[in-house]
Amino acid sequence: MCMPLCVSVVLSGSVSMSEQAQTRGRFFIRTYGCQMNERDSQSVAALLIEEGWEQATSMEDADIILFNTCSVRDQAERKALGKMGMTAVLKKDRPDLVLGVMGCMAQSRGAELLERVPSLDLVAGTQQFHRVPEILGKLGSDSGSRKSVVAVGEDQAGLSLLARHAPTEVAVSGFVSIMRGCNQRCSFCIVPSTRGEEQSRSIEEIADEVEGLVAAGLREVTLLGQIVTSYGVKELGSRGCMPFVRLIERVHEIEGLERIRFTSPHPKGLRVELMEAFRDLPKLCEHMHLPLQSGSTRILKQMRRTYSKELFLEKVERLRSLVPSIAITTDIIVGFPGETEEDFQDTIDVVKAADFDNAFVFRYSKRRDTPAAAMDGQLPEEVKQERNQILLALLEEQAMRHNQCLVGSIEEVLVEGPSKRNPDRLSGRTRSNKIVVYPGSPRHVGQLLPIRIERAMPFTLYGDPVILE
Ligand code: SF4
Repeated sequence: MCMPLCVSVVLSGSVSMSEQAQTRGRFFIRTYGCQMNERDSQSVAALLIEEGWEQATSMEDADIILFNTCSVRDQAERKALGKMGMTAVLKKDRPDLVLGVMGCMAQSRGAELLERVPSLDLVAGTQQFHRVPEILGKLGSDSGSRKSVVAVGEDQAGLSLLARHAPTEVAVSGFVSIMRGCNQRCSFCIVPSTRGEEQSRSIEEIADEVEGLVAAGLREVTLLGQIVTSYGVKELGSRGCMPFVRLIERVHEIEGLERIRFTSPHPKGLRVELMEAFRDLPKLCEHMHLPLQSGSTRILKQMRRTYSKELFLEKVERLRSLVPSIAITTDIIVGFPGETEEDFQDTIDVVKAADFDNAFVFRYSKRRDTPAAAMDGQLPEEVKQERNQILLALLEEQAMRHNQCLVGSIEEVLVEGPSKRNPDRLSGRTRSNKIVVYPGSPRHVGQLLPIRIERAMPFTLYGDPVILE
């Protein structure tokens, strides 16, 4: 499942006054939600730059403000709506300002958004990202004659947009979207209706994109999709070697690329050949984010997850037996309709038995037009909150224990840049995806360095570079 990190991301860049004079205008994109949204915003930004627009450093500085939205959780929708409402006020002083909303919320709510925020000029759904520059170009600069555009239809042509990158966005570690959509239809999830049916890009197109990024400085790639284990099944068939494993093998051949990761798989797609890829392909990092959602087989059935707690644990055990150093993280929903104390206890038992390194825990929130929203047994917020806290405490304890085990060891760290909390220090990730902060020089960025771990916290490791003879 695909409820990775919920973050608010801002795409920004700097523009000189002389450059501004030659451009069509300046845009600013605020992104809500998961890495897929982050990646989509990067693609739209790249396309806008190609078409002559410039990135602004802030909303105040922009002629066009775009919100790329998330519908996975109610809170994310409310946050985006609040921000859109506040931004609409800017139009009182600057009537020419263009306001647009893109992504999942645009797809699920369509024209209804114009009723909520009448000053919106553009509503572009998840298959219309590629048309944003064209629509913006046609809107016109005269706000008096401008007509709002709602574009939420299906359009396969949008798949090609996934390959776009603005040169300024290429970093040491980056995302590449390999597919979009999901056919799974978990009962709590709005994604199949906002992102549509699964569509995969070709292996060669993805490999070309990664090669281009590596030439521009990328060292680590994360292959992205709502359900990557279903990659290419429709296009390449499910007989023989898993298409997703074939893709990883092809990307593995790319010279100069040091590391490969992916997110998110579905436990049903965690076949032995994918487990063996971790063992056999040295660039595939030893980290698996394997969404559990619930440890109760009864609730899993209600969620339409197609596995039992026993099968999930069997797969975890098999994976660990093949790759003992693998770190496993997960997503869990607490307070799904009808979840009893006994069901919740099952989740706790599975969290302990799988010995997750960490997890994202979500309190169930109703999503409209999903089967779970209409189920009996909706739980009060206090119960969800209480279960959330219990689980977070347990996971923090587990995370701390896993990290403590690394104290004294030497870990290979890919240095990504200054630490967010302390810019005087550098930050990178181990192969098992743990954040390491250490004292070093900016010239280390992009290097794989051996770091001795000196201290551990639940979410961060601290260390010193090792001088090797
Ligand atoms: S339907 Fe299920 S597998 Fe598909 S994106 Fe949603 S949670 Fe993930």
